[in-house]
Amino acid sequence: MITHTQVLILGAGPAGLAAALYAARADLNPLVLTGPELGGQVSITYMVENYPGFPEGVEGPALVQRFKEQAEKFGARLVLDTAVAVDFSQRPFRVQATKTTYTADTVIVATGATAKTLGVAGEDELVGMGVSYCATCDGHFFKGMDIVVVGGGDSALEEALFLTRYANTVTIIHRRDQLRAGPLLQKRAREHPKIRFLLDTVVTEILGEDMVEGVRLRHVPSGETRDHPTAGVFIFIGYHPNTDLFTGQLALDERGYIVTDKFTRTSVPGVFAAGEVADSRYRQVITSAGMGAAAAMEVVHFLSG
Ligand SMILES: Cc1cc2nc3c(=O)[nH]c(=O)nc-3n(C[C@H](O)[C@H](O)[C@H](O)COP(=O)(O)OP(=O)(O)OC[C@H]3O[C@@H](n4cnc5c(N)ncnc54)[C@H](O)[C@@H]3O)c2cc1C
Repeated sequence: MITHTQVLILGAGPAGLAAALYAARADLNPLVLTGPELGGQVSITYMVENYPGFPEGVEGPALVQRFKEQAEKFGARLVLDTAVAVDFSQRPFRVQATKTTYTADTVIVATGATAKTLGVAGEDELVGMGVSYCATCDGHFFKGMDIVVVGGGDSALEEALFLTRYANTVTIIHRRDQLRAGPLLQKRAREHPKIRFLLDTVVTEILGEDMVEGVRLRHVPSGETRDHPTAGVFIFIGYHPNTDLFTGQLALDERGYIVTDKFTRTSVPGVFAAGEVADSRYRQVITSAGMGAAAAMEVVHFLSG
C-alpha cells in the first residue's frame, strides 16, 4: 500500500511535533511517523526546567504529551511506524516504513539523536541488568546502592544529580581531568554530599555475570587498572544523529549530522531537517522545537512557491 501526503514528518520528538503543529495549522494535514520513541528523548526525561512557560518545571512525558495533543488538535496524523529507507532522488519523495510506503511532496526529517555506547566488554550483555542510558527509566532500581555515571558533560552531571534521589553514592567517571559540563552544574555536583569523582579514568570493562557487580577502571596518566564495585553503570557520553538511512540521500557532515542552511533546507530541495538530527550544538527542547516550527514554515513557503 502506498500513502501519499503533502508533508511527511519523520520523528515525533519536540522538532517533529512542533513541525506537525505548524504544518497542521497551515492546513497541510501532515503525516508524522513517530519512529521507535513517540515523544523522542523528552519522553525519557524526568523534569524539564528550562522550557519557557513552566516556571515550576514540567515532567518530560507530560510536556511531549501536550505537544502531541496540540498538533493532533489541528489535524496532524501520527502513525506508529519507522522509516527504514528513503528515496529523495525525485519528487514525490519516497519513504519506506516498516508497515507502509509513503510518497510525499515535502519531507521534514526530525529523527533526532541516540545515546552513544562505551563499546566495552560486558556493556551489551548487561544492558537492563545494571547498565543504563536513562536515569529516569532505571534510577528507582538503585535505591540505596552505590552506582557510577560515565561522562563529564551536562547530561552526565544532570543525570548524576537526579540519581542522587535514589542511590547511596554516585561516582562520576570521566576520562579527562576537567569536566565539560557548565559551571553551575559542576558546582551543584561538587557540593552534593552523595557525589564523588574519578577523573582521568576510563571504564575498560563492565563486570558481572547476570547483574552488574563492578567496573574495571584504568587511570589514564599512570595506566594502572583496578576494579571498582558498583551495582549500576549509567552511561552519558554523548549522542549520534539518527541519519544512517539518509546516507547517500542528503549531505551529512563528518559526524553524520544533516547539513542545512539557516532556513532548515537540506541538500535536496523540498527536504528539510530540524532538531538534533541537524544540530550538534544546542540540543534542547526549545531549540529543537524552534527548528521544527521553522522547517514547517519553510515547507509552506516551498509548496506555495
Ligand atoms: C536524559 C535527557 C535529559 C534532557 N533534559 C533536557 C532538559 O531538561 N531541557 C531541554 O531543553 N532538553 C533536554 N534534553 C534534550 C532534549 O530532549 C532534546 O534536545 C530533544 O528531545 C531533541 O528533539 P528532537 O525532536 O530533535 O529529537 P528526539 O527527541 O531525539 O526525537 C527523535 C524522534 O525521531 C524518531 N525517529 C528516530 N528514527 C526514526 C525513523 N527511522 N523513522 C521515524 N522516526 C524516527 C524517534 O522515535 C523520535 O520520536 C534532554 C535529553 C535527555 C536524553
